Amino acid sequence: MVELEDLPNVGEKTAQKLRDAGFGDMMRLATATGKELAVKAEIGEGVADKVIEAARKAEQIDFETALDVMERRKDVGRITVGSEAFNELIGGGIETQAITEVFGEFGSGKSQISHELAVTIQLPPEKGGLDAECVFIDTENTFRPERIEQIANGFELDIEEVLKKIHIARAFNSNHQILMAEKVNELIQSGVNIRLLIVDSLTAHFRAEYVGRESLANRQQKLNQHLHTLQNIANTYNTAVFVTNQVQARPDAFFGSPTKAIGGHVLGHAATYRIWLKKGLAGKRIARLVDSPHLPEGESVFKITTEGIVD
Ligand code: ADP
Repeated sequence: MVELEDLPNVGEKTAQKLRDAGFGDMMRLATATGKELAVKAEIGEGVADKVIEAARKAEQIDFETALDVMERRKDVGRITVGSEAFNELIGGGIETQAITEVFGEFGSGKSQISHELAVTIQLPPEKGGLDAECVFIDTENTFRPERIEQIANGFELDIEEVLKKIHIARAFNSNHQILMAEKVNELIQSGVNIRLLIVDSLTAHFRAEYVGRESLANRQQKLNQHLHTLQNIANTYNTAVFVTNQVQARPDAFFGSPTKAIGGHVLGHAATYRIWLKKGLAGKRIARLVDSPHLPEGESVFKITTEGIVD
């Protein structure tokens, strides 16, 4: 394996700077941009470009055949959402190497699914998990350990063990949120087996901070940068990224849905799977798959119980 110190232009000091800035992983380095690296690791842009080029060589970043892609797809892991019908709708559970977005109105179950996944990621593969830990970026202070306790109880898991494997980051504003997502690189590189990154809610801060049409371009640019970080984590470490999103009212819509997801095209293009959550009758919830690269659109019904999500 190539170490940072093996790259040209990288001495002990630069290597340390790179590690401190979350670029300790060769693939992470290879997929960085010169500007990004120069700013974050506080090195000259010329050096940054050279280091990236060397990392790309080391990682053999080049065209690959469809067979290579197929091989990599074999590594895709799936995490159960608790309901069989829901799992089936999305091809067997939330995928690693992808961003899955759920959107829906207040109380539609977005946070509940986030809590459920924080527990099910820890299950062994035969029970629908990946035997791994997760990061939960909480932007609206909706994370509740008590809720984790109830769900863990449902799976007959050791509560303390489960809580220890959920790494919480409270994000107080959008910049803080962006920073915390970037810090996930460091956590994984330090050896913690993170296979799921939850951002609940992805868009709330951006929506609150960038008000009015004139700030829209700025907001979308920031959101795009954030999504780029998330996608990078998903690909680099074979991690699942699960994000929640609100909807905004569309009072002018006569046909189709009167609500639409926040984030516009930027998010629409970045999310691999998009799921619309709706409230149904008698406490039921409806999940509608609205976008997927290889699955048909469809719906499934699930319920939220004390023990978590069920059919
Ligand atoms: P949002 O989409 O706004 O994130 P939530 O995921 O917080 O919505 O879902 C809230 C709903 O979840 C509540 O209205 C309630 O029906 C259900 N719920 C929350 N906690 C429990 C629980 N302990 N047992 C059963 N249902 C719950």
